[in-house]
Amino acid sequence: MGKYNPYDNVLAVVENAAKVLGYKESDYEALKYPERELKVSIPVQMDDGSVKVFEGFRVQHSTSRGPAKGGVRFHPNVNQDEVKALAAWMTFKCAVVNIPYGGAKGGVICDPTVLSEGEMRRITRRFTAMIAPIIGPDQDVPAPDVGTNPKVMGWMMDTYSMLKGHCVPGVVTGKPIEIGGALGRSEATGRGVMITTKNTLAKLGMEMAGTSVVVQGMGNVGSISAKLLHAEGMKVIGVSDVSGGLYCKDGLDIPGILEYLKTPKALLEGYNAPGVEHIANEALLELETTVLVPAALENQIHGGNADKLNCKIIIEAANGPTTVEADEILKNRGILLIPDILANAGGVVVSYFEWVQNIQSMYWTEEDVNKRLKEIMDRAFEAVWDIAKENGVEPRIGAYLIAIKRTVEAKKLRGIWP
Ligand code: GLU
Repeated sequence: MGKYNPYDNVLAVVENAAKVLGYKESDYEALKYPERELKVSIPVQMDDGSVKVFEGFRVQHSTSRGPAKGGVRFHPNVNQDEVKALAAWMTFKCAVVNIPYGGAKGGVICDPTVLSEGEMRRITRRFTAMIAPIIGPDQDVPAPDVGTNPKVMGWMMDTYSMLKGHCVPGVVTGKPIEIGGALGRSEATGRGVMITTKNTLAKLGMEMAGTSVVVQGMGNVGSISAKLLHAEGMKVIGVSDVSGGLYCKDGLDIPGILEYLKTPKALLEGYNAPGVEHIANEALLELETTVLVPAALENQIHGGNADKLNCKIIIEAANGPTTVEADEILKNRGILLIPDILANAGGVVVSYFEWVQNIQSMYWTEEDVNKRLKEIMDRAFEAVWDIAKENGVEPRIGAYLIAIKRTVEAKKLRGIWP
């Protein structure tokens, strides 16, 4: 097997779903290629006076259904193929929940854990200036992803606004509330994961209360998912971050762990409590549990470990955590997997609400946001579940049947220009 390329993973899933839809290659040919890829160099004055040049990307996969939409990732392992894959997943994610966007993604190769706040700000501002010609509320709307946060979105919004000469809040989502962010946005992806978990368990006649769950990753998505699943009464028996995992068969004290992680630079390896065992990340994925929530990076469940998992249900909170090879193994083992483009869509759904509020200069309550989020997540879940059953396919393919159909139809209706 060659080196794992997430974009190949996307293409393989698209091909599988297009086959079920009975599409000819020409029907979905355009979806195989991102519409636009921009690679930029970002010179930055570091705190010690030296100049470092970082590499950044913005990829717009599709604008057939609306402006391109998707996060910006700051991580040492960012590369163009990863950004391309993440951009394509955004197209399908927005289509499956039926919000009027295409898909995009951005990334900068850097390590936020070793950058000062000033260095982060200068990288963000110069990156924004470099991609400014192709972003905008009607063109392409960035948002947070791994390694970025509301503060970074605030700098992006300010930089773009300064270049335009007036305030443009709708150019990015996931901003701080004070400058046009949506209430509920920071918890939205985790909330969507919780709603999806509840819907999945309900289909199987199971309750959340007392059901075991393991969460891999303690970033924004993993930590909020763990918090909300715990609040619904689930027994969170394992969690992990880059430093390793924690396990307690009777359930971890999630509020206590989240409180501990608030200390700057705190990692799970430093957390201790009675009955809590420290385990390696690989062992965490293999714990015996009803639900497994991978909420870290791509390629975590692969051909090498899919047959060792001890869960019944996987809810993909990360983007692309499972390879195509692993999908096949999980299917044969009868493990039910709810795919990323559905399970983690809560974030972009509330980004959509934020953009709508910015455009209208009319702001909603958090209750409104959460209610509308739940309606969209519930509707999309039912649609995916039903289409998967009707076609005798896994929910991943079901989600892609809906997403590809909507995207191909939009393209057909618009026609190819010129
Ligand atoms: N980065 C998030 C995702 O992967 C959110 C994207 C957005 O809100 O535009 O879905």
